Amino acid sequence: MKAEIISIGTELLLGHVVNTNSAFLSRELAALGVEVYHHVTVGDNPERLVDAIKQAEQRVDLIVLSGGLGPTEDDITKKTLANHLGVDLILHEETENKIITYHKNSDFNMPENNQLQALILADSRPLTNDTGLAVGMMLTQNNRHYALLPGPPDELEPMVENYLKEEIVKHILDEQVLVSRVMRFFGLTEAQLAEKIQDIVVNQSNPTVAVYANDGEITVRITAKAQNEEEGNEAIDDIEKDIMEILSDYFFGYGDKRLADVIKDMLIERSLTITAAESLTGGAFLSELTSDLSAGSILEGGLVTYSADKKNKVLKVTKETINKFGVVSPECAIEMAEKSRAMFDADIGVGLTGVAGPSSLEDQIPGTVYIGIAYKDKQSFSKHFHFGYKRNRNRRLAVQNALELVR
Ligand code: ATP
Ligand code: MG
Repeated sequence: MKAEIISIGTELLLGHVVNTNSAFLSRELAALGVEVYHHVTVGDNPERLVDAIKQAEQRVDLIVLSGGLGPTEDDITKKTLANHLGVDLILHEETENKIITYHKNSDFNMPENNQLQALILADSRPLTNDTGLAVGMMLTQNNRHYALLPGPPDELEPMVENYLKEEIVKHILDEQVLVSRVMRFFGLTEAQLAEKIQDIVVNQSNPTVAVYANDGEITVRITAKAQNEEEGNEAIDDIEKDIMEILSDYFFGYGDKRLADVIKDMLIERSLTITAAESLTGGAFLSELTSDLSAGSILEGGLVTYSADKKNKVLKVTKETINKFGVVSPECAIEMAEKSRAMFDADIGVGLTGVAGPSSLEDQIPGTVYIGIAYKDKQSFSKHFHFGYKRNRNRRLAVQNALELVR
């Protein structure tokens, strides 16, 4: 099954809006085993849209159109496709009622043209819009499938998740259910991970295996199309087993859990408290740990000591350590961890020091980071990293790797 995504909107061509819809759609379609061959963007212009549709018809089975379902003059998608295919636009009563009810309950008067959002192409299957008014739709003609989706990402994304995927699975791919599982990894790059499981990824069409990275954490999504839930889960279990044989050292959890969430859960479960003294990360590590309500039970406080002077005067890292080894050193990282741990009487202390960049510090190249970990009743240790030259990436990776060391 080959697909093409046509994004409609002059604002996209002008660079006022970034086309996140096509990226989102590509990921979702890939997870279904549908191959996206082209992304095309056209302005709000009927002739050029028809050209784009004709071209897509030459080369793919599924054409996904995003944008231009709204009620205004420049929303041309439905009319243009209806003309092109020679089908009528008819009223979708459910949507019409929804629009009327919406305006009854709100302070807005209903504009005359709002009803346009309730029009669908004859013989199409409507796709519910859970977060907006414009109804989406899916139409099949001459063995070619057309999906029409609203432009706003907060309308398009739930429509795809909740309705379009099911529509594709049932009506186009002839399967009953779609089951997916998300596995989370840390400690290697996306490229390294992809290389390690390359054979699994390449040889799979059902289930499909998709890999993507975000903030140093890597997500592997396994998606199966199957006749029932159980069959789908069994197929996923098999793939998961193969993946874990290769990557279990890097696995940290399932679903949308982040590394910081896993650490927080672990600390809560073991009734441990934590603190940190941060330099290059400027409080970002502590910020991760305080992002939700549970923070109070794992953390009483921490410090940001950016300058060497404050590392000494506030945190009480000794002048000897700073003068002899420098602030970018394993000794300093360990001492920061130990002193903060003692100061806040925590079970675990974390020290983060290094060169965020882009300039060097103490003759150390940017991206050099030392993370120290101190415990109440165990030997402290530190680990050396070299991340690269990008300041904020270095700071982010320092935070993530400190979390990983706590794990
Ligand atoms: P509306 O009823 O809001 O007019 P619509 O379906 O007609 O919805 P458009 O008018 O094409 O959609 O786009 C509305 C807004 O949605 C745009 O101004 C833009 O902010 C956002 N948008 C549209 N297309 C995309 C896209 N491909 N990626 C990200 N955002 C988009
Ligand atoms: Mg619009």
